Amino acid sequence: MTNTSEPGKSESQIPTYDVVIIGAGISGMYQLHKAREIGLKAIVFEAGGDVGGTWYWNRYPGARFDSESYSYGYSFSKQVLEEWEWSEHFSAQEETLRYLQYVADKFDLRRDIQFNSRVTIVNWVEEACQWRVQLDNGKSASAQFLITAVGPLSVPAEPELEGIEVFRGEVHHSARWPHEAVSFSGKKVGVLGTGATGIQVIQEVAKTAAHLVVFQRTANFAAPLGNRPMTPEDQHYVKTHYDDIFKKCRDSYGSFLHDRIDCSALDVSQREREAFWEKLYNEPGFGIWLGNYNDVLVDPEANRLITNFMVKKIRERVHDPEVAEMLIPTSHGFGSRRVPLETGYYEVFNQDNVELVDVKANPIERLTEAGLRVGGIEYPLDILVLATGFDAITGAFNKIDIRGIGGQTLARKWQNGPQTYLGLQVAGFPNMFMLVGPHNAATFCNIPRCIEQNVDWVTDLLSFMKEHRFRRSETKPEAEREWTEHVYEVADLTLMSKTASWFTGHNPNLKDKPHTFYAYAGGAPLYRQKCDECASNGYEGIAFSE
Ligand code: NAP
Repeated sequence: MTNTSEPGKSESQIPTYDVVIIGAGISGMYQLHKAREIGLKAIVFEAGGDVGGTWYWNRYPGARFDSESYSYGYSFSKQVLEEWEWSEHFSAQEETLRYLQYVADKFDLRRDIQFNSRVTIVNWVEEACQWRVQLDNGKSASAQFLITAVGPLSVPAEPELEGIEVFRGEVHHSARWPHEAVSFSGKKVGVLGTGATGIQVIQEVAKTAAHLVVFQRTANFAAPLGNRPMTPEDQHYVKTHYDDIFKKCRDSYGSFLHDRIDCSALDVSQREREAFWEKLYNEPGFGIWLGNYNDVLVDPEANRLITNFMVKKIRERVHDPEVAEMLIPTSHGFGSRRVPLETGYYEVFNQDNVELVDVKANPIERLTEAGLRVGGIEYPLDILVLATGFDAITGAFNKIDIRGIGGQTLARKWQNGPQTYLGLQVAGFPNMFMLVGPHNAATFCNIPRCIEQNVDWVTDLLSFMKEHRFRRSETKPEAEREWTEHVYEVADLTLMSKTASWFTGHNPNLKDKPHTFYAYAGGAPLYRQKCDECASNGYEGIAFSE
């Protein structure tokens, strides 16, 4: 067993809590609030210097929502809804971080959060019915319950670039962006990666850089964001319609304001289809992806049609036909990867200061003192931005040495892919709950909506245990097996499960990550129903003991 006791301290001197929460992002913050509400003594350990999680770390230029701002904020506090005003329909990172800081102030959350404290080891001690938690600063803590709120996209996946030590310029990963401003003005800038992050960075950098080189491995289908400021009328509408907004999110597949319509793309005429797609394309947000015909993400023929529509749009927007062809994805159909939303992304490639380089056809060789060498050509750079994605969903779990009953490690248990019950608990890891864990609907969701569901469910379970004087809860292996099978069955019905993306464990920098399905594709309403059924059947699938 790993020794988690703190040097110089006896077991009895180690601070003991009811609950240790790992992470002070959106889920950890709300979980702390709810744990306090039911009278539990809780502590949050957070690796960063303040609250905010994703919005604390991803402070790269251009970072902003692709959910409507007012559909993204917490719904649990009427006062917060009343007081906070979003300035844009899709607000930028600084504003979101400010919002989360305001929520932390409002509920005095920081009082129970230890910042700059990275959890390194957690160890279940059966005799004590407790988790022992060790931090990178040498400190330890004990708690009956462990709740992970570590985020699905929190561990950057960085390429191993030969020559990085000789490169004279700056290199920044988007998710570890410096707190000081980085100026691109008059600089030669390279961006590696064209996912949702890369696309946001590229749009921004292209405005001021002397020269921007976009190093693209795989093209992605992006659709217009349609952002605009919130007018006083918009503010009034939102403030008076929050119930409707959250109900709409609650009823939709991905908890967004957009939901698929009850009609097949193949049951309407080409004229009708194209008119509908034109309308969706010109509307704000995820309508074109998630508010579409009900078969575009599952039926190959319907998907082929929407893909052709999106291809036509790229060809219309990019002037140089060769560049347009490079920007058209050939490896996947529209929507089978998470769709990036953009503001003038395709037009960036019509600018004289922007160059597109295919790094699949011409592999990256190395960084030199002056730039990046690709396919025998050196591209001079002052700044290289790595928008190369994340070790998604399981990455943050693998960063912690998590040991359950008998010292079994979670990493070993999940070596061929995650196994969970409802994406919330794991057999062999008693009293551990995962917010936004693998195989949880929250991994494919307008995330705060699913976070609130996750946290409320876990909190209800903790209250249930308190009420019944249960000290220990553990998922039954058969419940875990059934849930894991269900996750793969519903994933198989979609085109997403057949496409390389972070949903399926793909990232070029993670050669050993198993390629399996990490999210839950059954949709948020079905997921919530399954969680509710479990609870109303006395937490069926979970064994409790005193
Ligand atoms: P991503 O979707 O995984 O994209 C990573 C990009 O980097 C891909 O284009 C990938 O190419 C490329 N790449 C990775 N390693 C590379 C290498 N060694 N050489 C060349 N290219 C390399 O990651 P992401 O863009 O950070 O987005 C992840 C998710 O975060 C999104 O899907 C979304 O859910 C979320 N996000 C949300 C927002 C928002 O607006 N709210 C903004 C940003 C991100 P391949 O495709 O070939 O692997």
